[in-house]
Amino acid sequence: MMIKNQSEYLIKKNSNEYEVVIGLEVHAQVLSESKLFSSSPTKFGAEPNTQVSLVDAAFPGMLPVINEFCIKQAVKTGIGLNAKINKKSIFDRKNYFYADLPQGYQISQYKNPIVGEGSVVLDLPSGEKIVGIERLHLEQDAGKSIHDVDPQSTLVDLNRSGVALMEIVSKPDLRSLDEVNAYIKKLRSIMRYLGTCDGNMQEGSLRADVNVSVRKKGKKEFGTRCEIKNVNSIKFMQMAIEYEANRQVDLIEEGGKVDQETRLFDTKKNETRSMRSKEDAHDYRYFPDPDLLPLEISDKFINDLKKNIPELPDEKKKRFIEKFKLSPYEANILVADFETSNYFEEVIKKSDVKLSTNWITGALFGLLNEKNLEISQCPISAKNLSKLINLIKDGTISGKIAKLVFEIMSEEDKDPKIIIEEKSLKQQSDPKELEKLIDEVIKNNQDKVRDYKSGKDKLFGFFVGQVMKVSSGKANPQLVNEILKNKLK
Ligand code: ADP
Ligand code: MG
Repeated sequence: MMIKNQSEYLIKKNSNEYEVVIGLEVHAQVLSESKLFSSSPTKFGAEPNTQVSLVDAAFPGMLPVINEFCIKQAVKTGIGLNAKINKKSIFDRKNYFYADLPQGYQISQYKNPIVGEGSVVLDLPSGEKIVGIERLHLEQDAGKSIHDVDPQSTLVDLNRSGVALMEIVSKPDLRSLDEVNAYIKKLRSIMRYLGTCDGNMQEGSLRADVNVSVRKKGKKEFGTRCEIKNVNSIKFMQMAIEYEANRQVDLIEEGGKVDQETRLFDTKKNETRSMRSKEDAHDYRYFPDPDLLPLEISDKFINDLKKNIPELPDEKKKRFIEKFKLSPYEANILVADFETSNYFEEVIKKSDVKLSTNWITGALFGLLNEKNLEISQCPISAKNLSKLINLIKDGTISGKIAKLVFEIMSEEDKDPKIIIEEKSLKQQSDPKELEKLIDEVIKNNQDKVRDYKSGKDKLFGFFVGQVMKVSSGKANPQLVNEILKNKLK
């Protein structure tokens, strides 16, 4: 799908009159070996119902015991979102019935979340934009209903039941598909730097409820929103928003009005459909869970975590721009992923920064893209790429030959020096040797030499090309230029 830029492109009819307003409730699975209130493992992909304790299955009389590690993860994430950490928070029961929710309620935080207001900086092509965070609260995940295994019945897998989620609620500050894309990517990046969520959208570790409304441009009040539940990829979020915004505009233009409702996105038909009219908080009969005391954390608890927060993408970006003189664009793409930024820093330890930046954001990213690999699976080690760059820098090989060596390295992570020797790719920089080649080219092209001398300057490129050809691309182009100029005077 094309990633669209502005509301103008997003809305098809009367596009210049309307604006889209978007707010996201992101559910991020806490990176933790065990669940929020039990010691069952959380590993993805296990056999159904093999990671279920009596607490997760809601056996009568079982009591939840809070997992301190999950609390730390939530607080760390709050710090990464520049947010207020609440020293006292309360776990509530949110009551509803569902086959995969054996408790009959979800333990969540309602009025008193563990993390309050914060902000996230979006890196957009047009510059930076700050998006407000309303809150972050902890809650348990539900189990999973499986409808397509048994034709007669629905099966329930409780492995996910009780897994800790952080719900991160944004303010309604997003205005375009690009901003939604940048927002999700930034949240993911921050949490991966912190090690608080793996951000794996295929495995459902990061999914979002998408709130969409439209309003006439220039209006102060927001329009009525619809909430699209549980969308699990950026692409689907964008498709759902696009569909939903147009549906709302069409509705308003026909004289109707938008009802506040909960909708689902049908990925096959590319449309949103009504699920239910929006429930109000009181429908859930929230009340503090009597099995859990209010959660109180100390300043020391918070400060100890603060001390161990790693350098996050915004700071790193600033450092890369100041220290290495990168452009904001280059810095953005190099810091977006924690491992990529480490790879970059490893390469430039011993190599030219400008050249390294170009090779990493160019050839290396191209290779990863083509092979659909993460940087952690990169076939070329930082050490060997750094060596390759040094060989270009000191003139041992030309940029063109370097591309060839790079290709060979992408098949086998070898020291480029060895490759150059084995394939005798070394650049020819001996003036005497080059002179011989050049004399030969001149001798074989006497007619062209005459034309050149009578004013056809453009032929110079032809001679350079011929010399490169007879040297199998190995002649040092700079030297060839110099010598040729002299000889053709
Ligand atoms: P609820 O539990 O009712 O879904 P939350 O406070 O959890 O309420 O989340 C509301 C979400 O909807 C927030 O992300 C907020 O930014 C967004 N939102 C609120 N009003 C609008 C609006 N008019 N248009 C789009 N999004 C909105
Ligand atoms: Mg909600």
